[in-house]
Amino acid sequence: MALVNLKDILHGAQSRRYAVGAFNVVSLESLQAILEAATQMRSPVILNVAEVHFKYVDLETIAPVIRRAAEKAAIPAALHLDHGVSFEAIMRALRAGFTSVMFDGSTLPYEENVQQTREIVKMAHAIGVTVEAELGVVGGAEGSSEATDDRGMLTDPKQAEDFVKRTKVDALAVAIGSAHGLYRAKPKLDFKRLAEIRDATGIPLVLHGGSGIPDEDFKRAIELGICKINVYTEMAQIASHRIRGILDKDPSFISFPDLLIAAREAMRDLVMEKIKVFGTADVCSSPNAFCPTCQGCVVGSDEYSRLASQIAKAVIEQLNKE
Ligand SMILES: [Zn+2]
Repeated sequence: MALVNLKDILHGAQSRRYAVGAFNVVSLESLQAILEAATQMRSPVILNVAEVHFKYVDLETIAPVIRRAAEKAAIPAALHLDHGVSFEAIMRALRAGFTSVMFDGSTLPYEENVQQTREIVKMAHAIGVTVEAELGVVGGAEGSSEATDDRGMLTDPKQAEDFVKRTKVDALAVAIGSAHGLYRAKPKLDFKRLAEIRDATGIPLVLHGGSGIPDEDFKRAIELGICKINVYTEMAQIASHRIRGILDKDPSFISFPDLLIAAREAMRDLVMEKIKVFGTADVCSSPNAFCPTCQGCVVGSDEYSRLASQIAKAVIEQLNKE
């Protein structure tokens, strides 16, 4: 169906209390796994390509592949640059047809983060591309599968309010105790802080470092305003485990494509599990012509359903205002 931007895909998230999963594409197999899972679960999905992963997937080569695959899928998807830290990466993503970008200026001095984010928002919005930014620093090394107990630097709700007002970002990644990579000890999320940030900003909030957070913590975070959850490490881990299992059982196994298929199936099953926990299963189910996530997703092929969805979207917008 459709490639949509972050604003559209997160449209119903806050009011309907779900979070759209954002999963990293690091190969064709991961792309297929994510889209298969989302399609089977009739769920919207976000396809992340991280700047640190450009070494695995060449941006200009993979972007048209992702766009084509997403357009063929029967669910709405966003093509999102994950942790764009360089101006160059943001520009390349815009040119390659991404529908959304994350500019991560979280390690810059505050005023510098505001200035640079604001500039990028201005450019991106002019062409219908949405922007996620980060305030505070999510711990661990982004894009890695290393173990960490780094809690980063937590987001200050007052500063978040000022930041969102001045930058006009569409979504904000918050640091509330999660970390990139694998957790050494059980992560402790600061839910009170999360609620304060939600009340101060009013925009969809994003949880990074979603690998290894217990399901009940996800659910609580979603209740308190998390609308997008990033998962990567667990996908890498489960794919590697699956391949190791096959090779341990049969050291003479050499069919490389079959290893890739096994990895893809493992990742698909994991993404399906996450979608269930994040609450987006059946958001795009076909009898649901009133899907607010996009303007007609699966049922968008006929004009009537598209109109019905547009009306539903307007009604929901109105209800949210009241
Ligand atoms: Zn991240």
